[in-house]
Amino acid sequence: MFCTICKQNSNKVVKFLEVYLCEKCLDNITKTRVEDEEYEKYMDVFKDIFKECQTY
Ligand SMILES: [Zn+2]
Repeated sequence: MFCTICKQNSNKVVKFLEVYLCEKCLDNITKTRVEDEEYEKYMDVFKDIFKECQTY
């Protein structure tokens, strides 16, 4: 299974809504604070996913 965020193949992915998150990204997200550069990157990914969900 490929992680939606980092696009790496991982056998430990968690499905969250329509997103697949590997352990590393899940860990990163929980540690990311609003002032971090990564925060916006993750938010952009989630925004895209929420947009897709709304069309159904
Ligand atoms: Zn990942």
